[in-house]
Amino acid sequence: MSDLALSATGRVTFPGAGDVFEKMCAHLEEHIDLRRDGSTARAETADVRIDFSWRRETFEIVARAADDASMVAVREMVVSHLREFGGEAAGKVDWTGAALTAAAPKRSYRRLTVTGVADITPHMRRLTLAGDDLAVFARGGVHLRLLLPHTPGADVGEPVITDADRMIWPQEAEQPQVRVYTIRRIDVAAGTLAIDFLLHGEDDHCPGAGFARRARAGDRLAVYGPVGRDVPPARRYVLAGDETALPMIARMLEEMPAEARAEVLLECDGPDDELVLAAPGNATIRWVHRRPAPAPASAALEAAFRALPIAGPAEDIYVIFAAEAAAARRVRGYLRADLGLPVARYMSAGFWDA
Ligand SMILES: Cc1cc2nc3c(=O)[nH]c(=O)nc-3n(C[C@H](O)[C@H](O)[C@H](O)COP(=O)(O)OP(=O)(O)OC[C@H]3O[C@@H](n4cnc5c(N)ncnc54)[C@H](O)[C@@H]3O)c2cc1C
Repeated sequence: MSDLALSATGRVTFPGAGDVFEKMCAHLEEHIDLRRDGSTARAETADVRIDFSWRRETFEIVARAADDASMVAVREMVVSHLREFGGEAAGKVDWTGAALTAAAPKRSYRRLTVTGVADITPHMRRLTLAGDDLAVFARGGVHLRLLLPHTPGADVGEPVITDADRMIWPQEAEQPQVRVYTIRRIDVAAGTLAIDFLLHGEDDHCPGAGFARRARAGDRLAVYGPVGRDVPPARRYVLAGDETALPMIARMLEEMPAEARAEVLLECDGPDDELVLAAPGNATIRWVHRRPAPAPASAALEAAFRALPIAGPAEDIYVIFAAEAAAARRVRGYLRADLGLPVARYMSAGFWDA
């Protein structure tokens, strides 16, 4: 782990702090390493550590980070979750300590128009989206929050973005549905980016997959971002994911230096869903199929992942597992407790909830 030299303490008092603590633990556990002991918990990634606890009506957070930008990002994350789980009063955290003046990470809002719709496999649809001034999405994270209209074909309005990186829609009815997706490709000069949508489920009610399923040239949506963190340098990458992580892994492989070593494991429905991926010469790519198991019940990726030999000096390796949240949680425990990998050398993330 990098040196977490900066520290800030936050306190907020509101009714229901214990309930919010439970929700916070349950939520963070889906995404990052979390250890809990009664009314205290610790969540950590390679760049930050958050200790949080509650007593009576007071919620306390001690955040540690390696640099200003990570400190601001972690505080912003804590406040937005407190607000989400406990309402406005829970978000009014009184912070003391380091990095109180650092600038928040730069994120941008853009309204985009669908200009291309192409099925790249039976279950994956690529939408090309066009908009102005996309350079900000070409660095600082490969993911985006998609802001999708409730009504097919409707436009997404213009929010007010507050200092705390929060979007407020002047008309409550305009508030869009938010889902996280990966920028598969971006061409700043052409003003386009591509997003690959898994067409999961069969109905139109899922905001993300439903938008892609119905998409036609001229449809509108908005994006906010970029979001995501940098992958640390390593001699050897082990990358495993299902179709929701395929755009991220495909992009990582394309952008790796030619001498990089990568072992890649991908789960898809069946052989028709495999894609040919551009990758460095030292990459091996293996596909596992879940058919006839449906995605929520599939054990194919996790079983194949656990059979991989992940040994050797921790500083040489970086491991990514990204798939259904419960599988990601189990794999996180396996990497930490069974293999003893330090938290800075892996990311096991829930990309969707069954
Ligand atoms: C960092 C990040 C990057 C991501 N990038 C991509 C990407 O590039 N492309 C992509 O397709 N997805 C991606 N995802 C996953 C995507 O955000 C989720 O699958 C999301 O739930 C889709 O929203 P929805 O509106 O279609 O379905 P929701 O409304 O969220 O869910 C509706 C129903 O569908 C089920 N469901 C959701 N996802 C799946 C799935 N994958 N398989 C089976 N059932 C599912 C849910 O359990 C629920 O019952 C990413 C997620 C993260 C966190």
